[in-house]
Amino acid sequence: MKTFGSSAKRLRPVFMAHGASSGMNGSCIALGPTKPRRIHTGHSSLSTVSEYTPETIEYEVDHLVIGAGVVGLAIAERLAARGSGSTLLVDKNPGTGQETSEVIHAGLYYPADSLKTRLCIRGSEMMYDLCEKYNIGHHQTTKWVVGQNDEDLTYLEGLSKKAQGLLLPTKRMPGPPTFMLTRKQMFAQEPHVQGKAALVSPRTGIVDVHELMQLLETRIQHHGGDLALQCEVTNIEKLGPGGREAADWEGTPDLSKSASAFRVTMKTPSGPVTVKAATVVNSAGLHADKIDSMLNTRSSSVIRTDRDGDEDASALRPFKLHYCKGHYYGYSGPALVSRLIYPVPYKDLVGLGTHVTLDLAGRMRFGPDIEYVDRLDDYSIDPATVGSPLAMETVTKVIQTYLPAVKPSSLYADYAGIRPKLAGPGEPFRDFFIQQCSGYVSLGGIESPGLTSSLAIAEYVEDLLY
Ligand SMILES: Cc1cc2nc3c(=O)[nH]c(=O)nc-3n(C[C@H](O)[C@H](O)[C@H](O)COP(=O)(O)OP(=O)(O)OC[C@H]3O[C@@H](n4cnc5c(N)ncnc54)[C@H](O)[C@@H]3O)c2cc1C
Repeated sequence: MKTFGSSAKRLRPVFMAHGASSGMNGSCIALGPTKPRRIHTGHSSLSTVSEYTPETIEYEVDHLVIGAGVVGLAIAERLAARGSGSTLLVDKNPGTGQETSEVIHAGLYYPADSLKTRLCIRGSEMMYDLCEKYNIGHHQTTKWVVGQNDEDLTYLEGLSKKAQGLLLPTKRMPGPPTFMLTRKQMFAQEPHVQGKAALVSPRTGIVDVHELMQLLETRIQHHGGDLALQCEVTNIEKLGPGGREAADWEGTPDLSKSASAFRVTMKTPSGPVTVKAATVVNSAGLHADKIDSMLNTRSSSVIRTDRDGDEDASALRPFKLHYCKGHYYGYSGPALVSRLIYPVPYKDLVGLGTHVTLDLAGRMRFGPDIEYVDRLDDYSIDPATVGSPLAMETVTKVIQTYLPAVKPSSLYADYAGIRPKLAGPGEPFRDFFIQQCSGYVSLGGIESPGLTSSLAIAEYVEDLLY
């Protein structure tokens, strides 16, 4: 047994790992310099490749998923559940997961034909089913979007109309997807909430993300997959035709040529490790653009085009992520509401506005706000700015537009999350960006509603690969 990292997790040698309790709370497998071994056999594409140099490969796998956040876990679980082919999920950190509001969104806000809408609606159904089946903490709280003026009401009526066409009745959710409440009706149910009218979303709820991620991790192992923490992917090369060994290779591999495999290099506490993977899924969240750039060496602003100037769909299209921090504020005192309360969102959907959510214990928390930042690893809360009395006054003013009873003295800066955004400051709405080239799937801009959509994203990725 070896012990790695500051979290002093006990890691097992790789071939003893199947079925072991692992990940965020337990042990996980260790990938380290060792004799070249095959993790699991059974995927024909692996045995047909001959171009790679065997001595540089230490492990072989059919599905390599990079990033063990909730989306990576869902994808690895889905691929492992296929039963044919081995699955390895790796993460550079000793623990995983973004801070979120834990909301199961209904899929109301985004353009009707966007992936965000489609995958959120499908993902929410799948999420409720999974939670019920495996007893994961969740609660269909319902949500109100509260309007304060005529402009807000016009927006809410439009949203409600859109929802009627989009969110069709299902067995689980037979009723209307949204409906409106008057001020009087609002007061009868939530006396602390102030507004002219509210749009009700009965399908919205909350989920215990920690329990969800643990379940996914257990199921990955149940299906024979593996999770290896503290494995940082540092390089990816395409093997075989069109890859590193191709005679015409000029720096940007043509992934459209016949698939063979990828050589993925990782940094681990025991030294570098090389894995040969038949398929690779880049689910690295804030780092996804960097993972892609390991394969695609072109400038991130250039989209590959063919001779006629048309975009070449066979090439991997680069993207650039912007980091958008969101701070949460805790509330000391009994909850003033019994459901989630949102203001009308920002016009460009950069965020949904500082809203109040409840956790499963019924505690209120506010946020997240929006701050574009340069660093993707700084989750700290600056006591001089975000945590200052002035900041509490400012955020309270925003909250008081719909919940006037909240006082600055009851709020405290709690924690922060960082969104991987495709849209920079002031830029219009951007959808999830999911692309596949010959066995390499890349996920860009998986911000909210990424948690809600996670199971549907996994289904989508499986469809892209098979
Ligand atoms: C503040 C905030 C609130 C949110 N609230 C909600 C909500 O209420 N409802 C909702 O549906 N969605 C919400 N979201 C969105 C949702 O949380 C995300 O979409 C989701 O968590 C993304 O999961 P992920 O697995 O894609 O990324 P992450 O959780 O970021 O995981 C990516 C993983 O990749 C690993 N990684 C990176 N580089 C490497 C490398 N080189 N090698 C190995 N591993 C690597 C990282 O260590 C990380 O663990 C929220 C997001 C934020 C930021």
